[in-house]
Amino acid sequence: MKATVEYVKQKFQEYNDLCFEGKLKPLPIRLSSARTFLGQVSYRREKNPDGTWHYFGFIFRINTLIDLSEQEVEDVIIHEMIHYYILSNQIQDTSIHGVVFTSMMKEINAKYNRHITVSHKVTKEEQDNDTRVRQHLVCVVRLRNNQRGVAIAARSRIFQLWDEIPRIPSVAECSWYVSTDPFFNRYPRVQSLKIYPIAPEELESHLEGAKPLVKAGNTIKVKR
Ligand SMILES: [Zn+2]
Repeated sequence: MKATVEYVKQKFQEYNDLCFEGKLKPLPIRLSSARTFLGQVSYRREKNPDGTWHYFGFIFRINTLIDLSEQEVEDVIIHEMIHYYILSNQIQDTSIHGVVFTSMMKEINAKYNRHITVSHKVTKEEQDNDTRVRQHLVCVVRLRNNQRGVAIAARSRIFQLWDEIPRIPSVAECSWYVSTDPFFNRYPRVQSLKIYPIAPEELESHLEGAKPLVKAGNTIKVKR
């Protein structure tokens, strides 16, 4: 089936009353034909003085490109409603499908006989769902076999990795960038020497807004 805005609105209301005690406030609902996610709650966030995040500006998106059964569409809607519940209540979960998300999901599945999952989505689609804007220190590597790779440095390790990565025997060359592309959210920030292979086209498209970094003496800064 293909969802419509009217349909999503109606389901949102129905499951709001059933699973969330009607506590979720209405929000903009959009249809999406993205190839990368089934559903998404996008948001903006600001840092609170105590270092936690304040979430706002929510938009609910449901994919209409990928054909799903009605039950699957409903599960996607409820999945996104759990995200919305957590974010709009300013609950700081441990990760995108963290402890709070998982326990709410399990409870709803058991109580209402749903089949909401996270596991089938910890794939590319779910990674692409992670649209948080963060700053990434990206080391782009060309290996001796001509494959490309990336490593995302923890801020505390960049100096060390700056020196160590070029010394890895399989590394032919490397360069560093700073990027806020949410694409890089999917990579762990490495404490050690871990390089993730990446297709050249994919790498190129996500480096478009990136700024090259240079090391001068004991500072690393954006190249002017
Ligand atoms: Zn999710």
